[in-house]
Amino acid sequence: MFDLVIIGAGPAGYTGAVRASQLGLKVAIIEKRKTLGGTCLNVGCIPSKALLESSEHYVQSLHELKDHGVEVSGVKLNLAKMMERKSKVVSGLTQGVLGLMKKNKVETLFGFGKIKSKNEVEVKLEDGSTQILETKNIMLATGSVHNTLPGITIDEQFIVSSTGALDLPNVPEKMIVIGGGYIGLELGSVWQRLGSQVTVVEYGDKVAGTMDAQIGKLLHRSLEKQGLKFLMQAKVTEAKVQNDNKVKVVIESVKDGSKQEMLVDAVLVSTGRRPYSEGLGLETVDIKKDARGFVSINKKFQTSETNIYAVGDLIDGPMLAHKAEEEGVAVAEIIAGKPGHVNYLTVPGVIYTWPEIASVGYTEEQLQEKKIPYASGKFPFIANGRARALGMTEGQVKVLAHKDTDELLGVHIIGPRASDMIAEAVVAMEFGASSEDLARSFHAHPTLSEALREAALDVDKRARQM
Ligand code: FAD
Repeated sequence: MFDLVIIGAGPAGYTGAVRASQLGLKVAIIEKRKTLGGTCLNVGCIPSKALLESSEHYVQSLHELKDHGVEVSGVKLNLAKMMERKSKVVSGLTQGVLGLMKKNKVETLFGFGKIKSKNEVEVKLEDGSTQILETKNIMLATGSVHNTLPGITIDEQFIVSSTGALDLPNVPEKMIVIGGGYIGLELGSVWQRLGSQVTVVEYGDKVAGTMDAQIGKLLHRSLEKQGLKFLMQAKVTEAKVQNDNKVKVVIESVKDGSKQEMLVDAVLVSTGRRPYSEGLGLETVDIKKDARGFVSINKKFQTSETNIYAVGDLIDGPMLAHKAEEEGVAVAEIIAGKPGHVNYLTVPGVIYTWPEIASVGYTEEQLQEKKIPYASGKFPFIANGRARALGMTEGQVKVLAHKDTDELLGVHIIGPRASDMIAEAVVAMEFGASSEDLARSFHAHPTLSEALREAALDVDKRARQM
């Protein structure tokens, strides 16, 4: 009898497994893929960041190194090599997770997991045999899959999801990205940097819609400057592969219904993701889902069956690996009798484009909507010594603090290494810090992090660098 059986070995599942094992529980984890790590390690966070990094090196070699007095000639793209490197990064990490399971004595089964009863999980193993695991608790961590659009068939060759877009064998001459969220902007950036003419078609009136609007606007402008094209308030109503392997795409304006056609070499459908619970056997124990397919849970992540928990992309909330991890850990701790919890206000969000956007807490729009009085401080990277030395001066930091108490309410960064800089703001908010706390803390000179301090000082209009 196991204490905990986990279905799905993505960030939620494998992190939960490690924590449960650390707390002395007997744990098994089931994964239907051939490798562990879920969407994130196999076809999500990691391969996309590997390609973003490689494509950034390519652009720098072509256009930016010369500003540093480094002259290179004959720069050539070796896409096959770039893809091989990405695959190596992925396999190193997925193997690492397998090692982590072994080290923590988590029994790992490769197969399809299904709830048979509230205390039994049936596993269809890779060799076709079936095994039943008896368990006191079950953690559902089956994650999510990409959305599709009506009338558009993803073939992963010409019309691709993010998975196909991470593996294109050639740089498409022209590419359409449907959806201006973080996946579309990141993968659109990769292919644009590698030479594709990329057009992003976005239904709404802004890209990076969940981010602070002013920061999102700056990113939009910057990506346009780099060469990405945007068709805003527009939708793709049809995409068909033709005999000449071009994709005919019909785009309709949301504002006036006017239509235009484009012929492109690849279409990326990045219109969001949906929770995945197919074949999981939720009905056998009457576990409820909401209208969008997310498994319904209470504050302790319990489904309607109290010993069956759900975490990660399978439940409502930002579909992010670090959010999934924290939920996996929280459930392991709750099962072990500890007060596991997740602070959703401090989940950081990052878009790994150039420049990066990183954000935590409330946006200005949310504060206005909630009628929370706030003061804002800003600082541009152009006035930061380290950014100048790096030659990466685009962007700014914005700090939002409560007008009366000075408590930090949100931090929004667009600029170099924003993804790493946001960690300081997350910790500060987790500790209930004020902008004054940030402003009075040492920040080594010269570092990009000084821009955060200066923005905190600017809440009180006393920024001082340059
Ligand atoms: P998943 O990672 O989806 O894992 C679920 C696992 O369960 C899968 O491996 C699946 O095969 C398995 N499974 C499903 N059903 C069964 C079953 N019945 N039996 C056995 N196994 C089953 N997030 C970030 O935070 N940062 C990023 O930079 C980032 N980049 C991304 C880029 C892309 C292109 C994509 C697609 C996603 C990205 N994400 C990113 C999102 C992130 O990948 C997800 O939020 C995260 O993987 C969710 O973790 P999870 O454990 O809930 O689910």
